[in-house]
Amino acid sequence: MNQLTQSEIVLMKKAGALTRDALNYAQTLIKPGVSTLHLDKLIKKFIIDSGGSPSFLGYEGFPGSICASVNEMVVHGIPSESIILKEGDIISIDVGVIYKGYNGDAARTFPVGKISPEKARLIEVTKESFFEGIRHLKVGERLGKVSHAIQAYAEKHGYSVVRELVGHGIGKKMHMSPNIPNYGRESDGPIVVENVCLAIEPMINMGKKEIAMLEDGWGIVTRDHKPSAHYENTVLVTKNGVEILTL
Ligand code: MG
Repeated sequence: MNQLTQSEIVLMKKAGALTRDALNYAQTLIKPGVSTLHLDKLIKKFIIDSGGSPSFLGYEGFPGSICASVNEMVVHGIPSESIILKEGDIISIDVGVIYKGYNGDAARTFPVGKISPEKARLIEVTKESFFEGIRHLKVGERLGKVSHAIQAYAEKHGYSVVRELVGHGIGKKMHMSPNIPNYGRESDGPIVVENVCLAIEPMINMGKKEIAMLEDGWGIVTRDHKPSAHYENTVLVTKNGVEILTL
């Protein structure tokens, strides 16, 4: 785990705040009739105007500044002019912002207009599973306690947990060690140390856990085409507890 200095922590907090602001802005844009490319363009401008830069743009060749993943798409949806939001959809927006070399990363699943109670419940339980996980995030404890708690909470509600995609350490790079699965045993993973930043990000499926990749090489969808939700924050762990930097 990558321990940060106090001056690095200041920059991580600023990167986190810019990421949060971009997601709050995204929420105001979501309505039926809007394309995911339109969202991408406006959010990119918002990030740059705020003094940050969009970390996803060009990351391993990704063409967008956000990931925009609708309904059965789990994550990594490429923004597109031909994907138009409809009443009753859910859309996961994942945003990464770099500020002075430090990274914030966060995601939310938003409703488009009025959605079914089943989809609303999926969004709620996914968010709750994050908070259930970070209750177990403590200096001196195994990171596996977080992973285990997320899985137990999601499965208790009849949902399944994506295995192939995981949370991660974050700091000078967006993706750093350790990997943080959203499933597993309490006895797994490294012991948490102080002054580290982690991106914890449950990806929860309404149906089965199996996923597939689209032909574009990015979009990840559920194999059973049932909806999926995502909730991610960048958090700071100190000896005094956990601070959520992107909320
Ligand atoms: Mg992430």
